[in-house]
Amino acid sequence: MIRAEEARKLILEHTSVLESEALHILECLDRVSAEDIYATENLPPFHNSAMDGYAVIASALKGASVDSPVTLQIVGKLPAGYTTDKKLTESDAIKIMTGAPVPEGADAVIQIEATRQEGEQVKIFRGLKKWQNIRFAGEDVKKGQLVIPKGKLLGASDIGMLAALNIGRAAVIRTPSVSLLSTGDELADIGEELLPGKIRTISNYSLYAQLVKHGAIPENLGIAIDTKEEIRRKLEEGRDCDILITAGGVSVGDYDHVRSVLTSMGMKEIFWRVAVKPGKPVLFGILGKTLVFGLPGNPVSSMVALNQFVLPAVYKMQGKSRMPWKEMEAIMEGDFEKKKNGLRYFLRARASLRDGAIYVKPLDNQSSGSFSSMIFSNCLLIIPEEVSKIQDGEKVLIQVMDEITE
Ligand code: AMP
Ligand code: MG
Repeated sequence: MIRAEEARKLILEHTSVLESEALHILECLDRVSAEDIYATENLPPFHNSAMDGYAVIASALKGASVDSPVTLQIVGKLPAGYTTDKKLTESDAIKIMTGAPVPEGADAVIQIEATRQEGEQVKIFRGLKKWQNIRFAGEDVKKGQLVIPKGKLLGASDIGMLAALNIGRAAVIRTPSVSLLSTGDELADIGEELLPGKIRTISNYSLYAQLVKHGAIPENLGIAIDTKEEIRRKLEEGRDCDILITAGGVSVGDYDHVRSVLTSMGMKEIFWRVAVKPGKPVLFGILGKTLVFGLPGNPVSSMVALNQFVLPAVYKMQGKSRMPWKEMEAIMEGDFEKKKNGLRYFLRARASLRDGAIYVKPLDNQSSGSFSSMIFSNCLLIIPEEVSKIQDGEKVLIQVMDEITE
């Protein structure tokens, strides 16, 4: 049995960043840029007004004040989106709106609040410096400048920047395709009659949703009953993908055929079983170009194992360098003692913010049979392999997938 850390290391060693694809920029959100993107034009493209006001020659307003305003002739009006041929002289002003190109001759814009229009003239009550209230061509982004480096996770502002630069498509790292199969004679899908001894499948849905949330494209292969033939048939059907996941049948029970089926299909096993709780009987191997994860069937264990072992690979494939969770320090509330030493525990827990600190309390029911504990928890509390108990007030590490909102 290997340690979680070692397992993750092996997984990442066998995981490669996927190739890129060119997409419309609106499909690039949360994707990683596959190339350095340089500005193809200046931003803004021309000198323009930062204010609604009057374009003037600054030196004409020397000494202007409330008591002795300077009066200029209004020789034009310039809304955003238009240009003018008029060339300004010292005695002129052109009424100008924010974003309109600065007319020739003008070297400043006086804001409307410091002026009063009187017919064809404007009284100006304040002086201003040359170039005041003017935004220069290229002052935001210069043509040729690197704006988005290769490897950057693209957010909404990056999408806006691409639009500003007239870039409608961008090369981003492809997202992994993931096939997902549950195994178990006992499993019934939604809508099927629940015959005696049967239970509903959870993992086909919980794992699917978890994968979507982290950017993968899952395909649900459904449920295979516990025969080698059916497991093999379904896995062959779905093996053309970047990641193949099974849930269930990978432990040491009489009907746990997943491992031997995968081996017979040619999977090279990298490891089986990790010193974690929950999620111990995790299998990892390579089948052709596909990463294979055999997760335990228990739906709590499969979600935790997906988090710890599959999602880091999903992230790496997408070119994302971070882990899918945030690891933070928190203050333990209550005591906890391990039943089994040497395993890395992931306790379902609730973290909350109080007085600027994060407190965390493990849920009372840590049975992996309690799926409801997954929805009542908002983080996983990590207890390292060597630690056997934690006392109230001690510092611990937690993994948070979303935000702590309370
Ligand atoms: P296994 O790993 O196949 O031994 O399954 C462990 C436990 O998880 C058993 O109690 C199964 O009934 C249950 N289980 C397996 N697969 C699923 C599933 N897809 N949804 C809900 N429970 C499952
Ligand atoms: Mg089973």
